[in-house]
Amino acid sequence: MNERTEVSSLGEFALIDHLTKNIEIHNVSSILGVGDDAAVIDHFGKQTVVTNDLLIEGVHFDLMYTPLKHLGYKTVAVNVSDICAMNATPTQILLGIAFSNRFSLEALDDFYEGVYAACEQYKVDLIGGDTTTSQKGFIISCTAIGEVAPDKYVTRKGAQKGELLCVTGDLGAAFLGLTLLEREKKIFLENPKVQPDLEGETYTVGKILKPEARVDVIEYFEKTGITPTAMIDVSDGLSSEILHICQQSGVGCVLYEEKIPVTEETRKAAFKFNLDPTACALSGGEDYELLFTIKQDDFEKLSGENSISVIGYITDEDAGANIITKGGGKHPITAQGWNAFK
Ligand code: ADP
Ligand code: MG
Repeated sequence: MNERTEVSSLGEFALIDHLTKNIEIHNVSSILGVGDDAAVIDHFGKQTVVTNDLLIEGVHFDLMYTPLKHLGYKTVAVNVSDICAMNATPTQILLGIAFSNRFSLEALDDFYEGVYAACEQYKVDLIGGDTTTSQKGFIISCTAIGEVAPDKYVTRKGAQKGELLCVTGDLGAAFLGLTLLEREKKIFLENPKVQPDLEGETYTVGKILKPEARVDVIEYFEKTGITPTAMIDVSDGLSSEILHICQQSGVGCVLYEEKIPVTEETRKAAFKFNLDPTACALSGGEDYELLFTIKQDDFEKLSGENSISVIGYITDEDAGANIITKGGGKHPITAQGWNAFK
């Protein structure tokens, strides 16, 4: 049997101490971390980028199929992804947690194991947070901080006509991983004796349970001297993010369906559920890839990074935001993905 230690046997301060005693600091900008009333950061002449995300059990995650360690990792990854989307380097996080007495010390340890694994992966420092109880469920508030050279941050606003529309990695897998886990949950609830069938689905399930933030791409931009003109991370699906860039930049675009990166695993998973893989990429979400625009002159600088795809180009606002399908049809992009779910 797994051990179960009641959190109440420690008390708040011993718990915080327990959760934070092995913190490793990766950044010189982390001057003062956990242990005082507030942390101190010095970004040495750089600009600071800050973001916060709130994650609520039953709304944003389901502990029936989300291991706490993965949840800890994902909490950090999705916040770091927002920092990357500003073209900044993530440096610190603060983590507030609230939990009911359903959660043991061992459960919180699992969660923090994932948090620290992500801190190590992205070289960010946990420098503070808050710990409290909730009447029901697990609530997580994560703040991420990053640094960027003065005025090198990238917003959703700067895309201009003639520029290239690019995306990192591949899309749609996370949505299919989630669809699969939801199906298995339903089967389990109807018959708890049935073992989950996730054969051959490690890629899609991995994408939803353990997403990665594209810090590597931000490093690549720096190394090759690319400054995207606009950027956003793909959390709600490609079409929704494209529309954000178009609306905020006051431009239109052409997106080619055949250029949207979707892996073979994702296609297979989509066909199993009778879904169109393109629709999953457009409307699925939770991919945490980066969508950005660059000047045509920067195109050659992309050649060293095979995980970046050029998927279209920016047009005048009057032309609207459109997708050219594999069959050659032209459809306006809508936030639901054109109409492929029909
Ligand atoms: P205060 O009452 O001044 O807010 P706390 O007792 O809440 O202080 O926190 C003490 C220290 O522990 C602070 O540095 C705070 O940022 C940090 N801390 C509290 N909870 C967490 C947590 N869950 N993870 C990381 N650091 C935490
Ligand atoms: Mg406090």
